[in-house]
Amino acid sequence: MGEETSSPFQRMRSIYFDNAATTQVSPGILAELPRVLQDCCGNPSSIHAEGRKSRKLVEDSRRSVSELLGCRANEVYFTSGGSESDTWALYGTAHAPGNHRRTLITSQIEHKAVLSCSKRLESEGYNVIYLPVDPNGVVSADSLKRVITEDVFLVSIMSVNNETGVIQDIDALSEIAHLKGALFHTDAVQGIYDVEYKLANSQIDMLSLSAHKLHGLKGCGVLTVRSGIDISKLIYGGAQEQGKRAGTENLPGIYSLGIACRDIMTNRDAINSRKRKLSGLLEELITSRIEDLTVNSASARRAGGISNISFRGVDGEALMLNLDLKGVCASTGSACLSGSVDPSHVLMAMGIEKEIAAGSVRFSFSEYNTEEEVYTAADIICETVKKLRNMNK
Ligand SMILES: *Cc1c(COP(=O)(O)O)cnc(C)c1O
Repeated sequence: MGEETSSPFQRMRSIYFDNAATTQVSPGILAELPRVLQDCCGNPSSIHAEGRKSRKLVEDSRRSVSELLGCRANEVYFTSGGSESDTWALYGTAHAPGNHRRTLITSQIEHKAVLSCSKRLESEGYNVIYLPVDPNGVVSADSLKRVITEDVFLVSIMSVNNETGVIQDIDALSEIAHLKGALFHTDAVQGIYDVEYKLANSQIDMLSLSAHKLHGLKGCGVLTVRSGIDISKLIYGGAQEQGKRAGTENLPGIYSLGIACRDIMTNRDAINSRKRKLSGLLEELITSRIEDLTVNSASARRAGGISNISFRGVDGEALMLNLDLKGVCASTGSACLSGSVDPSHVLMAMGIEKEIAAGSVRFSFSEYNTEEEVYTAADIICETVKKLRNMNK
């Protein structure tokens, strides 16, 4: 292993600007993982010494998550990731024993986890309203006010969109939900850095997060559920997670999530300003050198880490693949959609023309990216866009 750095075959490191798809595991977590795997091999449900060691790790991590989110530790439920948390929030409230309401409200720009679960609920006979967005990708409080009724059991609106970085006004939206007696859920998978949640003093009843978007491990997430709210189970089995979510705990994932939350609490401002600087710099370098492009949602309140740019007359997929050949990793919208030729449902909901939407690439940053990478990538992006445009002439 130690020889790898001097190997002539060492792979060139990519410039990784796809942090909204997933993030690298933080050095701190990487360093501690072997110890966790070695020392915590007991089942947290076992009451012997080895089990208790693992239990402590789970509960320490739960406390870190609850501190970051400003809720109680017993309101934090570990899951297999953002998709499970979103699915559980929707199913769990629709199918809750006490729920007699039949309407769900969400938005047209949600992650596929929420959208496809909503479709499934429609096929079960529930009524689903998909709120539109304005040209900047913002869900307006008025649009929710206009359609909400006392038949709505849940309003689910994401905090930060994974394709555009737009920050929604979750406080206003959740307040409207509560006025009609509906619960409020937010997919906060992309929101954790930019939004400071204080769940105890908010109208957010449920919140999803995912470890691998925060430099933790893949396959671990959280759904918070305000105490007193009874949602139905999604995963059946043992009595883990207060009897609400069965399955032996994913110890390394849960450990990584706890560390990730601590890192955010300690370094939030520095992380945010670094990401803001990097995305701002890339946008500035590209817009000053390439014509006929649009930075999507430019005038909306946006998270610092995401730049979604439409290049007129360029195929986004071709651009992404050509950037990849030059060592720059970016994405055309959400990773789950790659391989499909449909333009992003988010950009389409914003009313962007189909051809323009199809020429869009998302660059998303983490605090581990550098300005030097941005300068190098900007050169490569400019060259590649020019090349592709000349080919199309
Ligand atoms: C990545 C992502 C998810 C899914 O999380 P997984 O842990 O990959 O299942 C859900 N919502 C948003 C906004 C995301 O970016």
